[in-house]
Amino acid sequence: MDKKLVIANWKMNIPNEGIDHFLKSVIPEITDLQYVQPGICPPYLFIPKLFELLDNSSVLLGAQNLHYEDNGAFTGEISAQLLKTYCSLVIIGHSERRRLFHETDEEISRKIQTATQCNLTPILCVGENITERKNNLSNKIVTSQLITGLSKINNFNKLIVAYEPLWAIGSGNAATPNDIELMVKVIRQVITERFGIESQNSVRIIYGGSVSENNITKIITLPNMDGVLVGNASLDPLQYSNIVKNIETIIT
Ligand code: PEP
Repeated sequence: MDKKLVIANWKMNIPNEGIDHFLKSVIPEITDLQYVQPGICPPYLFIPKLFELLDNSSVLLGAQNLHYEDNGAFTGEISAQLLKTYCSLVIIGHSERRRLFHETDEEISRKIQTATQCNLTPILCVGENITERKNNLSNKIVTSQLITGLSKINNFNKLIVAYEPLWAIGSGNAATPNDIELMVKVIRQVITERFGIESQNSVRIIYGGSVSENNITKIITLPNMDGVLVGNASLDPLQYSNIVKNIETIIT
């Protein structure tokens, strides 16, 4: 059985009480677990520091974005070639990047392609906003994000898809287990129909949006749920390690 992923997305933040305190209190709690694979995606600036501090731990290190070109005149951007020295994961197409930085599905597909070519595991974020949800467009939106986002790869072995409904992110109200279960089914179905059975078996699907120590049990025990992407709660060392430890206990 694959371990459950618990990926921290720190966004443009550092944890409460600082990175050193976070790692000191969290690493002993989350290293070498039997059923959970933790990962941390800090702001770029802290990637080399975490790379050193996480050495000898089993915690994965990831970035929150990349540029699809290998190098060149792209001021302010960072390539997979540069990231791969330190990282094994990269978040791509987060809703904040789509909404605030106008990333398109086409650009996202190029990023997924580049990450895959550089042996980085992409975490493709998909999800509908509140208006789309109210208009019953959730399945349509997520399907089209998947079809275009994944259109340039044929190796799905390492891919992770994160279902992150925009209305749940940072709201304190996670999607209901029923909503999550239905969308996980849709995502698996689209991947099977569009890209073949093999890809559906190798792709891991996780949920993100107001995950906390209080709701993790209901989310992680859903069928075919491979893990969670955690924003706000991952900045608090106690919450983050409680989420990880809860999963380890439940799965046991
Ligand atoms: C996210 O934005 O990826 C996320 C999961 O955020 P939060 O947990 O804060 O809703």
